[in-house]
Amino acid sequence: MSIHTELPTNVKPLVYDLSLEPNFTNFKVHGNVKIQLKVLEESNFITLNSYKIDIHDAHIIETTQYSNDITFNDSNQSVTFKFPHTQFHIDDLITIDINFTSTLNDSMDGFYYYQYKDQDKTKYVAVTQFEPIYTRTSFPCFDEPNFKAIFNISLITENHLTVLSNSDVKKIIPQENNKKITSFNPTPLISTYLLSFVIGELDYIESKEFHIPIRFYALKGNQQKGKFVLELTIKTLNYLENLFNLKYPLAKLDYVAIPGYLGAMENWGCIISSEIDAFIEEQDHENISLKQDIAETVIHELAHQWFGNLVTMDWWDGLWLNEGFATFMSWFISQKFHPDWKLNESYISKTIEVALNIDSLRSSHPVEIPINSSSDIDQIFDNITYCKGSALLTIVVNWLGEDVFFKGVSSYLNKFQYGTTKTLELWDALSKASGKDVVEVMNVWTKEVGFPLVTITENHETNSITLRQNRFLSTFDVTPQEDEIIYPIFLNLKTLNNDIDHSIIMNTKELEINLTGLGADLDFYKINSNHIGLYRTSYPSDRWDKLSQAARQGLLSIEDKIGLVGDAYSLSNAGYEKTSIFLNLIEGWSDEENFAVWNEILKKIEELQKNLLFEDEKVINGLDNFIKSLINDKIHSLGWIIQDSDSIDLKNLKTILFSTASNVNDPETIKWSFDTFEKYINGDTHAIHSTLKPIIFRTVAKHGDELQYNQLFKLYQDPSIPKDERKIILKTFGFFHNENLITRTLSIILDPTIVDKSDIRIPFQALRTHKSGILLTWSWLQQNWDKIVETIPSSFSLLGSIIKFSTSSFTSLDKIKEIELFFKDKDTKKFNKSLAQSYDLIKSKAKWIEREGKDVGDWLIENGFKK
Ligand SMILES: [Zn+2]
Repeated sequence: MSIHTELPTNVKPLVYDLSLEPNFTNFKVHGNVKIQLKVLEESNFITLNSYKIDIHDAHIIETTQYSNDITFNDSNQSVTFKFPHTQFHIDDLITIDINFTSTLNDSMDGFYYYQYKDQDKTKYVAVTQFEPIYTRTSFPCFDEPNFKAIFNISLITENHLTVLSNSDVKKIIPQENNKKITSFNPTPLISTYLLSFVIGELDYIESKEFHIPIRFYALKGNQQKGKFVLELTIKTLNYLENLFNLKYPLAKLDYVAIPGYLGAMENWGCIISSEIDAFIEEQDHENISLKQDIAETVIHELAHQWFGNLVTMDWWDGLWLNEGFATFMSWFISQKFHPDWKLNESYISKTIEVALNIDSLRSSHPVEIPINSSSDIDQIFDNITYCKGSALLTIVVNWLGEDVFFKGVSSYLNKFQYGTTKTLELWDALSKASGKDVVEVMNVWTKEVGFPLVTITENHETNSITLRQNRFLSTFDVTPQEDEIIYPIFLNLKTLNNDIDHSIIMNTKELEINLTGLGADLDFYKINSNHIGLYRTSYPSDRWDKLSQAARQGLLSIEDKIGLVGDAYSLSNAGYEKTSIFLNLIEGWSDEENFAVWNEILKKIEELQKNLLFEDEKVINGLDNFIKSLINDKIHSLGWIIQDSDSIDLKNLKTILFSTASNVNDPETIKWSFDTFEKYINGDTHAIHSTLKPIIFRTVAKHGDELQYNQLFKLYQDPSIPKDERKIILKTFGFFHNENLITRTLSIILDPTIVDKSDIRIPFQALRTHKSGILLTWSWLQQNWDKIVETIPSSFSLLGSIIKFSTSSFTSLDKIKEIELFFKDKDTKKFNKSLAQSYDLIKSKAKWIEREGKDVGDWLIENGFKK
């Protein structure tokens, strides 16, 4: 099968011998790489990836000939070595030997360093983040996923440092000057983006409860904080080996938690994670939501050890399969390990709804997006790739059943191990395992952008419903060309007399279903049961009341209720329905007991508040009054003091109700927050329950001034304060409404001595929630543009997300013009997707205000919330 490559295919790498010596004084890396190549075409040149690397010389070992013609191509990030006096013949094995110097950078990609203080001594830890295209900045290589090869890695360092890579250590050879060479055993066939090196003053805890040693590493003194991760790693590896019927193939697995790291990375045998995604601090042992988040990360990276590392996508257009699968597995396995966490409920909010929301923008993209240029790759690490990818796999699992699905996955992994694949090969394996045409159904979903709206009309005379599908866009302006796709839709029809009917697939524009034939009638029915399908449903207007009623009678599942809230909100936000449909629906559910349903309701209300941010105070206050009335009874009967004996659900519910009450300026919660904060600042560290801490800090910030800012700033700079708390405080800085304090927050963001690069996003998450924050952030972005581009890496869409945070909260079309004008003469190539999303989001809000602003005001007056 042909492979996708940007490099010439005259040679192919087999084995690398790589030696690197990083220097923490001048931040240079001395390197030598010998690459054994197989010649596939008669030729006399070798082209491989190399970017920002100083190449000293290159020669062919077998002929001892040096290249006298070395040309760099910066746009392809490649280098070509010509050997004019040599001819490579097909099937020759040749070895190119290259001496070079690369840079140990501080931009969080490639091979980079993080600087920290340990009792006033400056120390460094060096670490890699090679995915997707940064291995080429560390050493010359064939840096594409399908060029799998074997790597023999040696790292030269000072004696006292711990040195890790993908494989286990083969030998350590002491050198002069207090140095050593650490050589690692050969890797299996591996893609370059999965390589890794870690060098630093580390220590570990180890478990021997698996057939190979599993270690958790952290900076010395912190390793015990990884107990939860270590135990979960063992449990998950056992589970995955069974499920896939494939042993974990390496001789060890390290899980390394490092400060200054962004997220986590599945490097084969050497997973690297930020501390925040791995540490459970003493104070957090009861913090279930933190454990859930950490478990999500750990299981995700472990699932990659097979799905991604052992079997890898052939090219980056298949990234969704890697990430969608790992995301799906993290939910699936967490749910198996902890049924009490009820993650099936939060999965709807955190994955399906996220996917639907981003995919309703015109600027969305198909999960299998053609990647024509390497510069596009960073931008696809987004929620389409992760969440829509996961949502599509959920549909397949639901359709085929868990057993058949994993039988297919197992045969796929066994068949393609150590190789690369395309999406189609997974669908093929699942078709074979199930006898169903998975290819036909799923191809549309992965190759086409967006999802449909299913509009239902009822015919009482014939006891039937008619369904029609059209593309759904949040801006309510689908063109006929955009409406040509027919998505295969699983209707999952629920009726009064029957279980869910999983068999009906709608693969036409219109479909009529006679309910009589199903032994059902129009008294009660609902499609998209449990909200697994990727579509929105628009019912006749009186049906919403009936469904609201049905929920109160217990006819709908929690997932159904969450889905109805999501549908009603999105339809009204986009203009397909009136907003009053959504408001009436949730007003009827104020006695709801379930946390996940409340969570969805309150999240959507927050969206509504964001739409109104720049509107008349009276409307904003009216909406606040409505929200207060909605939660009033509940919060007064439950309170917000969290007891150890409370169920997880109850703890979560108390937390979110408290958060909402403070958000709508309920005086009682504000006063209590200030009182508790004062106790805390005065040394009573147990005054605040860990789950309420972010909310109390936020409340104090919103209504506080310089005094509280200074108190928090002092805490933030105290090295004894745990990392997770420092991050909460960093976010809190963005919640201050006082303009001087907002300016102060914006002024520290680009200062690496105060804010780690990996944390840059955090204050923006708060700044974009209020009017002054939004206005000042946008000015700051314009005034500091050059410095921002220089400081914030574009890897992992980091720069893109800062731009999205700084622009997307506006609500008027005029602002789009202003933003477009600013970016007109800028190079937007690396963040054009984020920018396009911002425009779509602003447009959809502006259109909503124009259409619904008055209506919502009227609804609030009619219902007595606004005067
Ligand atoms: Zn991943």
